Amino acid sequence: MRGERVRIVEVGPRDGLQNEATPVPTEVKVAFVDALSETGFDEIEVSSFVSARWIPQLADAEEVFARIRRAPGVTYMALVPNLQGLTRARAARVDKVAVFTAASETFSRKNTNATIAETIERFRPVVAEAGVPVRGYISTAFHCPYEGPIAPARVLSVAMSLLGLGVNELSIGDTIGKATPDEVQRLLEVLLPAVQPSSRLALHLHDTYGQAVSNALAAHAMGISVLDSSAGGIGGCPYAPGAPGNVATEALVAAFPGRTGIDLERLRTASAIVQPYLSR
Ligand code: MG
Repeated sequence: MRGERVRIVEVGPRDGLQNEATPVPTEVKVAFVDALSETGFDEIEVSSFVSARWIPQLADAEEVFARIRRAPGVTYMALVPNLQGLTRARAARVDKVAVFTAASETFSRKNTNATIAETIERFRPVVAEAGVPVRGYISTAFHCPYEGPIAPARVLSVAMSLLGLGVNELSIGDTIGKATPDEVQRLLEVLLPAVQPSSRLALHLHDTYGQAVSNALAAHAMGISVLDSSAGGIGGCPYAPGAPGNVATEALVAAFPGRTGIDLERLRTASAIVQPYLSR
């Protein structure tokens, strides 16, 4: 486990930009993704095919996908909430799609206006007709801003439902950044035996309370090799205004020296493209 390669999934263009007060210009997003394609990532989450009414910041998903330069060997992923989103994503020739649910019932209702079970049913045809690999996000896997701590058994139950649909990979989210290394260990003890090989399990850590790198190291020690992060740490925490959300890719590259395959200088260049357009 230790010493193995760490795969970083760069989520900045989607998860980082979706909460920005002012949408980032399309040409800046394209330049950002193109620069990220040159840094060594093999997977980049580019945008989201959700209704522009819900997330106006990502209303240009089609245009971004049409204009990026696709580097060989790089998977360009997009979030899709439903079949309509899948149709748009397929027309845009995405390499992989992601669906999004939660381990907390209250969070699911407030965030997607549906119970967890309803989101799973909504994903059933999406996964069946995807035609490309599917990632399943499980948010609030440790703590919920409304319900507090979430029991690992509840996360396992949602994970099993998603895998039962045929989802290829799960990304387990510490949505409010409150998890500790002990909690990461307790959840992984429950999830890892059920999700094999462990490369199907990614962790999506937020750095709201400064624990993300410690949590990443704890997870890696247990066999987790896939970690999500955003270049420059873009994307704040909507539940703690002003606080960080996504852990910075730069921090993970530094935490796993020589293991990520990411060129730190090129990553800084990519981050610098988008930074002037962010409100934070
Ligand atoms: Mg995030």
